[in-house]
Amino acid sequence: MSPIEAQLASKLPAYARLVVDTLEASGYEAWVVGGWVRDALLGATGHDVDVTTSAPWQQTARVLREAGIDVHETGTAHGTVTAVVDGQPIETTTYRVEGTYSDRRHPDEVRFVTDVREDLARRDFTVNAMAFHPKRGLLDPFGGEKDLAARIIRAVGEARRRFEEDALRVLRAVRFACRLDATIEPATQEALVACAHGLSDIAQERIGQELDGILATGKVSWALMHEFDVMAAAVPEFAPMRGFDQRSPYHAYDVLEHTARVCAGVEEFAGGAPLRELRWAALLHDVAKPACWSQDVSGRGHFFGHPEEGARMARCVMGRLAVPREVVRGACALVRLHDFEISAKAPSVRRMLAELERMAPGRAPELAFALLDLKRSDAVAKAPACMGYAVELDAMTATLRRELSGGGAWSVGQLAVCGADVIRERGIEPGPGVGMILAQLLAAVMAGDVPNERDALLAWLRW
Ligand code: ATP
Ligand code: MG
Repeated sequence: MSPIEAQLASKLPAYARLVVDTLEASGYEAWVVGGWVRDALLGATGHDVDVTTSAPWQQTARVLREAGIDVHETGTAHGTVTAVVDGQPIETTTYRVEGTYSDRRHPDEVRFVTDVREDLARRDFTVNAMAFHPKRGLLDPFGGEKDLAARIIRAVGEARRRFEEDALRVLRAVRFACRLDATIEPATQEALVACAHGLSDIAQERIGQELDGILATGKVSWALMHEFDVMAAAVPEFAPMRGFDQRSPYHAYDVLEHTARVCAGVEEFAGGAPLRELRWAALLHDVAKPACWSQDVSGRGHFFGHPEEGARMARCVMGRLAVPREVVRGACALVRLHDFEISAKAPSVRRMLAELERMAPGRAPELAFALLDLKRSDAVAKAPACMGYAVELDAMTATLRRELSGGGAWSVGQLAVCGADVIRERGIEPGPGVGMILAQLLAAVMAGDVPNERDALLAWLRW
């Protein structure tokens, strides 16, 4: 074994090794495959461990159970069971290849095979097609280790055929390129562009998962600028953004480049860990601009209503992609408010909090910071003349922090009085009138007319 292989062997978690050793002690062959091997070669060992084995899944389950290991039959149609050791799941799959893909979506059949090399050959990219065994070392028939070191994404086998089999691989190539800071090998890249249209046949939630994965790498701006054909095949609503000249003194870039810059900006301003909602919002904030464009008599372009229409489109796109509802709600609120006028004065910041609270109940504080980061990125991605606004945003952020630490109120539930106080002080019956009075009280607090303190609020009610 090479020093690198010895290092991997020492890093392989004991729970995974137990599964491999147990299967092999019963006469089967077993290897660790896929993401763990790839990431471990890069020095990161946090990835889940997947195991591939010559044992049919029924035998995998039997052998592991006899050794006292918990086994769940999680995907037996594809030969997968999940062993659980020390609370850690290890997906264990029988060597398999996929049959023909007549609908470009699902393999028509799964065929179990006896040679691990065949199993590796069905995998998408060379960096994902390596197997590792703690004694036998690395099995790397397609040069994945070399490609990984050079940061190259290369299809296993003939790229065109592989993307025609399963067009999702087109988007996966982009995701792994983002994730590994890699370039895409020329023949693979050519096939990517030629086959991107196949994404229209792929289940929307699979596309949604890969896009979410691309956003999570923090490199979606790269994907937009370098793999736009793929991105627009994944989300057809993106297509009009490329080359859309904004004809406005406020915009130095077309909608696509502006969007890419905003996506890069939110990563930077949020220290590499923006909310998932913010990443989606940056990607979609101007998606409605081409549809909302109009020109005035002087020839200048305007985009009236694009935040509202953008929020509507964002809801439609994200809903279709099966993004979790809570994320959709937050992201749409950010898109809807990205042009909302805010000043650094407390009432204005409270109004922003109230709007966010209305659109995404319970999430106003975290979304408010996200909104200011979105506005900041938006400002610096426009024209140089707009950058001064970023300084004002620092003042708004300071006001926001003060508001949040100072017991401010932006929803009725945060008032220092409640419905029962209204009923008592005003001598009215329970009913909708109580809510109306609380709303008025909230408006007075938000405007700074009365502090959010119980005595002051009771006095206001009595007055
Ligand atoms: P991640 O950390 O992103 O999950 P991963 O390598 O574990 O990375 P998965 O999508 O979980 O990626 O897939 C596990 C492995 O299965 C991959 O490494 C690859 O070998 C193979 N694989 C997954 N999807 C496909 C596909 N559509 N076509 C071919 N091989 C695939
Ligand atoms: Mg995985």
